[in-house]
Parts: sequence; structure tokens; C-alpha cells
Amino acid sequence: MIYQNCIALLGDDLEPHFCKRIEIEDGVIVGIDAGERVSRLTEGMCVLIPGLVNAHTHMGDAAFPDGATGLSLEAAFFRPNGFKYRELAKLPEAEHLAAVADALAYMAGSGTVAHIDFREQGALGARLLRTASAQTGVSSIILSQFTDSPFDMTELEANAAGLPEQHRKELLSLVEESDGFCESTINDLTDPAWHEIHQLTRATGKARAIHCLENEGYRELSLKRTKMGDLARAIKNFSPDLVVHMTVANKEEIAILADSGISAVINPRANANLGLPLPPVAALLDAGVNVLLGTDNGMLNSPNLFAELDFTYKLAKSQYGDAVRPDPVTILKMATSNLGKTRWGSQFPGRLEVGGPATFVELDFKQKHLCRSAHLVASILTRVTPADVLRTVRDGRTIYQR
Ligand SMILES: [Zn+2]
Repeated sequence: MIYQNCIALLGDDLEPHFCKRIEIEDGVIVGIDAGERVSRLTEGMCVLIPGLVNAHTHMGDAAFPDGATGLSLEAAFFRPNGFKYRELAKLPEAEHLAAVADALAYMAGSGTVAHIDFREQGALGARLLRTASAQTGVSSIILSQFTDSPFDMTELEANAAGLPEQHRKELLSLVEESDGFCESTINDLTDPAWHEIHQLTRATGKARAIHCLENEGYRELSLKRTKMGDLARAIKNFSPDLVVHMTVANKEEIAILADSGISAVINPRANANLGLPLPPVAALLDAGVNVLLGTDNGMLNSPNLFAELDFTYKLAKSQYGDAVRPDPVTILKMATSNLGKTRWGSQFPGRLEVGGPATFVELDFKQKHLCRSAHLVASILTRVTPADVLRTVRDGRTIYQR
């Protein structure tokens, strides 16, 4: 595959350069003939950006778009009786697979090459997503949770029990089927159970992720049970690779996360759709946290990272309180090169360079609404929609073409 006379966002800092020629062989970029830096267009051109990675999804729930409308966070999403768990339990597998594969195909058409999915339904749920991923070419990094809650309320309050034998067995199969483990909140399990999960996932080289501080209730319940907030407790007992949400994080909690070096995944559109506060993007950036972007639940939100980038950029500007900060590149990195700083960085470095994977999105900046862009990266955030994606390529393989 060869591209000629296009613009590509190169390196970690996504610098737009005019490129006479970009050469791809066996899924790898083998040559870039890069010329001058270009930030504004004088004529329409094709623009290559690194393939986008969605760092927090629940695509199993894409079978019920907007099904949570009118329901609270608890009524829609919490185990055991939340809307999603009731609906998933009665959905025939073939229908479910078709819905998930359709959602993944939409992601490919929106420039997304991979997603980190918080998959329900245990090992079966992981296998279903694996099949949809193979059908569409979008890479699914699957983090699984237990099929059913291991503990009742009394056991959770006492916070002393280890995993029941049945769940210990299930954990072994999850670790085998999936790329890692996640749970809704740290309050869903006891501390001894978190220690066991931490040990097993660490010994088997699997990833760990957890939702923290999505609302005040996460912190309050954890404080009541353990005298420790949910974020500090998650870091101490589970040592996650990713902390998702941080929606109501205060200054002290942002500092704790920054000290830990753990990446945050924010999901501003999903938070807004649930009537929650918006995540402190500006404060997380100022604290030096590595921030990633997700679209969260497929029932709640479309898995369209261009929409999420636009919303996040404007939210961050509003929080900084001026029109100058942040630089648009800072926001685009959240779906690209910031992935390179995580455990998935070798597979998804989120940057275009010689020797790196040919994983990119071709954007049609020849169109009339884009061809006069006076700031390319800002236009990618605020004007590009999935309709402007010409092609999505992962490791040299075209997974979407307009
Ligand atoms: Zn989630």
C-alpha cells in the first residue's frame, strides 16, 4: 500500500506534515518521505491520523440503543436487577452477536481500530465479543467481570470473606478467556477478594481496570465500609492499569491518581447523559495524569470517538476558562498516542512512524466543509464526523472503506 501527496500526523505529538510518499508493507510503515510541517490547508487533501482507540466501552449493551432513557444509573446498569442485566439474560445469542458486530462495524467506520471493553456475562460474554471482533477486524481488548455477584450485602458490609470456591473457579476461566478483569465498582467485592484477583491477574500477566468516582455514592459507600474512599481503596487492593470515570474526583483524589501513575479514562458524554457532573479534564491534565477517552456503554452513547473528542475539547476549554487552553493536540492524544504510554502501547502506540504498525485513519479533507481548514488538528476535533472517514486500517488491513 502506498500513499502519495497527503498530510500525516506524525510521532507522539501528532505533528501534521506534508508527505510525498508513505509506504506500507506487511502491516508495517516502512517508509515516510516527510516534508514541511503544515497546519493549514491551501487545497483539499487526504489526511492520515493514527487509528483511534476507545478506552472504555460496554459493547455488549449495544443491543439496546437508548434503552436506559428515563432510568437512573442504578436502575439501568447495576447488578443484579438493572435493565441491562435483565435484558441481556433474555437476548438470544445470535441476535446479540449480530447487534455487537454491527456496533463494531460502526466503530470501524468512525475511525476506531480497537476498544477496551468491560464485558459482562463472564467467559460466555467474552467469547461472543471475540467472535464479533474477528468478524469486523476491530480489535477488542476484553476485560471480564463475574457472571453473578459473589457476595451478598452482609458479606460486603463485613468486608472479610475471600472469593467463594465457585467464583475462584470462574476467575480462572475468565483469566483464560479474556485479556483482564474489571468490575463495576470497588464496592462490589471484599478487600480479600480484590487481593486474590490482583495476585492471579498479575501472575498471569492480565490487565485490571475499575470504575471509580462516577458519582459521590461510590466514595461514600467505600468510606462507610472501610474508612477509605473508593479510588484509594482500588489502588491499594487492586492496583488497576486503568481507572475509569473520575467524574466527581476532588483535588486530593486527582493528586492520588497522579502519584500512582495510573491512566484515567474519561467519558464526558456518557456522564452528561446520566445527569452526572462532567469529569475534571483540565485538573487531570494539569496534574499530569495520562488521560484516555471512552464512549462507555453502547446503550447510553454511540461509540463515535469524533463526537467524544469534540465534546471533550470544548469541555476542557470551558473548565480552563479561556479560549486558549488546551492545545487541540492534547485532546487528540487521548484517543491516540496516550495509549502508547499504557500496557497496550506496543500493539497500539497511537502514532505514525517508520517501523510502527500501519494502523491509521484516512480522512477526506478534500470535501468542501474541510478543504479550507486553518487549523488541521482543531478541525479533526470539531468538524470531522464518521461521514468524512475514507478508510480505517489496522496493521495494514483495511477494516472499513467508504
Ligand atoms: Zn464501564
